Amino acid sequence: MSGTTGPNTAGDREESTIQDCDDCVAPAEAFSVIANETRLSILEALWRAPERPVSFSELRREVEMRDSAQFNYHLKQLTDQFVVGTDDGYDFRQAGKKVVRAILAGSFNEHPELGPFEIDGSCANCGASLQAAYDDDVLAIDCTDCGKNHGCYPFPPGGLNDRTREEIMEAFNQRVRHLHCLAADGVCPECNGRMSTTVTRDAEDFLGLEVRVDHECQQCRHSLYSAVGLSLLDQSDVVTFHRDHGVDLCTKPYWDLAWCVSDEYTTIVSEEPWEIRVEIPLDDEVLSVTLDGDLDVLDMERRCRSAADEGAQAVSD
Ligand SMILES: [Zn+2]
Ligand SMILES: [Zn+2]
Repeated sequence: MSGTTGPNTAGDREESTIQDCDDCVAPAEAFSVIANETRLSILEALWRAPERPVSFSELRREVEMRDSAQFNYHLKQLTDQFVVGTDDGYDFRQAGKKVVRAILAGSFNEHPELGPFEIDGSCANCGASLQAAYDDDVLAIDCTDCGKNHGCYPFPPGGLNDRTREEIMEAFNQRVRHLHCLAADGVCPECNGRMSTTVTRDAEDFLGLEVRVDHECQQCRHSLYSAVGLSLLDQSDVVTFHRDHGVDLCTKPYWDLAWCVSDEYTTIVSEEPWEIRVEIPLDDEVLSVTLDGDLDVLDMERRCRSAADEGAQAVSD
């Protein structure tokens, strides 16, 4: 039920072009500067250096370039946008580190595929097993039977390195939680721009949700979608409730929590203003959480699971 990478709607909107910035180096120019193997080697040498700043001669030795004038020319191209020269030698600017990190994350030059492979957990919809598949730098979890989408998110290929499939899924779980946490706090995980949160109903939905939370960045238009319940993963009372029942919500995969990936446990109490109730059943108890349209908790009730709860569940099954 959670997901991202919806259609890119930026083209439909009026927006200032990303190349309009008086104080910045034009993006095209910045990209052309680093589109050169020697310059990337310089950034890599800086990255591998045990200590920075690194002197001109040491840097040249690492890059294995004999011609000092040539080397100087390339280094100058990187200064001051990616690299800064000081009395003690050369060091990174943040933009230079970002280039190296993006290359390490593999987003530019690796496009591995993986799976589908079966993962722990069962479908929130039909109870069948779940599978994960990795393609085009996106990891997606689907039901093997009914096909329900349990989330698809960009996951940099660097995250696959040195990890077993199980470890990849653990990392993916933490990453997805982190993405939604940032988004709910109003910060775009892609560009740090301002992110807005809206609750929508009956949306055209690839997640199969009737009630959905949409986060959208006002700057880069990156968007994240989820069921309402997902926003409760870090809520302290919800964490305590689970801990009391022996479940550690910090490590439990979000896709194996039906109230996080389905809206079966979600009731709309009111639409104007938004009041949404999420009921979390666990063993003999139910935690009932009421949220507003900004996903702030309005009310919380913990009670014994009643015959009515069982009945409601049986009907919805
Ligand atoms: Zn299913
Ligand atoms: Zn953004």
